[in-house]
Amino acid sequence: MTAVQTCRRLLAGLAALPTVSLVPDARADSETDVVVIGAGAAGLAASRELRRNQLRVTTLEARNRIGGRAYTDHEIFGVPYDTGAHWLQGGNRNPFLRSAERDGFTVYPAPDNEIVYIGKREATDAEYAAFDLARRTTLAAISAAGRRGRDVSPAEVVPDTGEWHDLVHFSIGPYEEGKDYDGFSCLDWWESGGGADRYCREGYGALLAHSARDIPVHLSTPATTVDWSGNGVVVSTESGSIRAHACLVTASTGGWPPGRSASILSYL
Ligand SMILES: Cc1cc2nc3c(=O)[nH]c(=O)nc-3n(C[C@H](O)[C@H](O)[C@H](O)COP(=O)(O)OP(=O)(O)OC[C@H]3O[C@@H](n4cnc5c(N)ncnc54)[C@H](O)[C@@H]3O)c2cc1C
Repeated sequence: MTAVQTCRRLLAGLAALPTVSLVPDARADSETDVVVIGAGAAGLAASRELRRNQLRVTTLEARNRIGGRAYTDHEIFGVPYDTGAHWLQGGNRNPFLRSAERDGFTVYPAPDNEIVYIGKREATDAEYAAFDLARRTTLAAISAAGRRGRDVSPAEVVPDTGEWHDLVHFSIGPYEEGKDYDGFSCLDWWESGGGADRYCREGYGALLAHSARDIPVHLSTPATTVDWSGNGVVVSTESGSIRAHACLVTASTGGWPPGRSASILSYL
């Protein structure tokens, strides 16, 4: 086995271990500069940036692991399996590319082919060609609007592609963006694109967790309330309150557990 293979095996093994909090319990009734709620990609990036600026940061995570919606499971199939984010998007602008290459992760181009079924059979060559044309025509319209800086939804610019319209809508809207055409912006779409997508063999979630290995996180510590009524802010957890100058809420709108995030978000 080569040194690189050994390193990759080691990384895969490390990634398979449950994430260990460097700070297992939130300090009861403590003080800090900033409380960051949530240790997904946003909360981890914010925590890193704030610490880099010499601020005292307390990062709270409701779950017993970091990563949020970018998480690699190792149990379900016995191989790294991303339960959420999987495509490294943004081409060479994706900041994870550099750390992946530096730290021995395996990153490779994501296959760009889609399999289309019409009922129970695969599409014919002619149908594939028609679908491809309809999709390219639609993407060209969205790109043109985004490139011109138009902050309008695709619903306002996409052409009618006849019988392929619904399938193209599904593949660009709900499948890729999690939204219908009228739920996102051509400008955002244009600015978030650029370059071929990539996969990470060890998992995108594992890559994120590895890149955040030095960030202390209080796991299993949901923030229950955020009180902005006085000077600064007081964040409550089951193990005590934290007084801070500022609080950054990165909890997903999906919530954890149901009800709790909603009560936090209602303070925003
Ligand atoms: C199925 C799926 C596929 C995806 N595919 C891709 C992809 O291929 N490429 C890509 O770039 N993106 C993809 N995404 C999107 C990407 O995963 C998210 O945009 C990103 O992970 C969001 O990060 P976040 O930090 O904003 O939120 P989250 O990851 O949701 O993090 C929020 C964190 O806050 C915690 N939290 C919630 N409430 C509290 C509380 N009260 N106290 C403390 N902590 C709390 C949560 O437990 C969670 O860890 C996908 C998402 C999903 C769901």
